[in-house]
Amino acid sequence: MALLNDNYLKLKAGYLFPEIGRRVKAFTEAHPEAAARLIRCGIGDVTEPLPPVVVAALHRAVDEMAQRSTFRGYGPEQGYDFLRSAIAQNDYRSQGMDIADDEIFVSDGSKCDCGAILDILGDRNRIAISDPVYPVYVDTNVMVGHTGSADVSGAYEGLVYLPCTPQNGFIPEPPKEAVDVIYLCSPNNPTGAAATRPQLEAWVAYALRHGSILLFDAAYEAYITQAGVPHSIYEIPGARECAIEFRSFSKNGGFTGTRCAFTVVPKSLKARTGTGESMALHPLWSRRMTTKFNGVPYIVQRAAEALYSTEGRAQVRGLIEHYLGNAAVLVAGAKAAGLTVFGGVNAPYIWVATPAGNTSWQAFDRILSEAHVVITPGSGFGSKGEGYFRVSAFNSRANAEEVARRLQGLRW
Ligand SMILES: *Cc1c(COP(=O)(O)O)cnc(C)c1O
Repeated sequence: MALLNDNYLKLKAGYLFPEIGRRVKAFTEAHPEAAARLIRCGIGDVTEPLPPVVVAALHRAVDEMAQRSTFRGYGPEQGYDFLRSAIAQNDYRSQGMDIADDEIFVSDGSKCDCGAILDILGDRNRIAISDPVYPVYVDTNVMVGHTGSADVSGAYEGLVYLPCTPQNGFIPEPPKEAVDVIYLCSPNNPTGAAATRPQLEAWVAYALRHGSILLFDAAYEAYITQAGVPHSIYEIPGARECAIEFRSFSKNGGFTGTRCAFTVVPKSLKARTGTGESMALHPLWSRRMTTKFNGVPYIVQRAAEALYSTEGRAQVRGLIEHYLGNAAVLVAGAKAAGLTVFGGVNAPYIWVATPAGNTSWQAFDRILSEAHVVITPGSGFGSKGEGYFRVSAFNSRANAEEVARRLQGLRW
């Protein structure tokens, strides 16, 4: 009989979002009258429609696909030049960062790239992951066999967990020991924290000292509002020698269902071969993409390109302002309710300490049954997320205002 990948059996069965779904279903079945009042602030998905420039670009590209003379079949696996160049120019070079067009790899999502990147890295690396964290980083490492099993707290043997707490502003410090690969996410999902320049400088210095690679997830870059907060790891000198950056059009252009993202692999980034030579990773990622991927649809790449036009930028700004406006309403509401709140300034998430000694799931159940609001329990993001919950600002303004009111109505 064929063998399956035993690593999948190590994954924790009760994955966060299915468990939330199960509890919400049980509650609405028991209380059908409350179902209509339910407001979901759980899953991190955008709610606003695509910006008009994107819709127009999609229509134009569809028309091109309808004509023999402008029809396109397979495109370059790494992305069309028009998009790679728009990204490198607008997101990097115009901001003073030295990134070449062919260091940009267009893909169908950062989530996919965060998992796929493990293809080009060795199997014996020491891997460090923040706690709490976007679950994809941990689970993709479990799936390829980089860990042992999980303990009762859900921590996997073999991973180095970097605690994120109010003391470090929810941005982990470099560990004392040497690790080879470090996942950083800023602005952060779930905590909403954004790393400061000194914090990122410390990480780049650490990575250069140890020959480690930083996997920097900047999916929420567009939400940074505070001056001085770095938008890219490449703002830090030396990062071209130690970092890969993931960015996505999901949370800025509303592309969660349209699918387009990119990964930056600088040509100067090197890692060690089994025989001890230092070698560039760029050709490996290029080879990986050309072999295992056939590119993002032409129409979608045209849609992403439109986000960089003058109108596109203004429309993206409008979307971000909408979601950050919701975040401000939620922060104010939670504070008025006497809760301790983090995030919501440079990210569309607010991270709230559960009051009165409640666990994350106890808080979830209280907020669901008494306020009819669905939040995300912090413990689902890692053991250090226990004692917190995440509220997403991806919603209508009316819903954000209503959630803010209902949080104030709760008596803990
Ligand atoms: C939403 C999100 C992404 C984007 O994923 P896509 O696959 O591009 O939609 C990446 N990282 C984090 C932490 C996210 O929350």
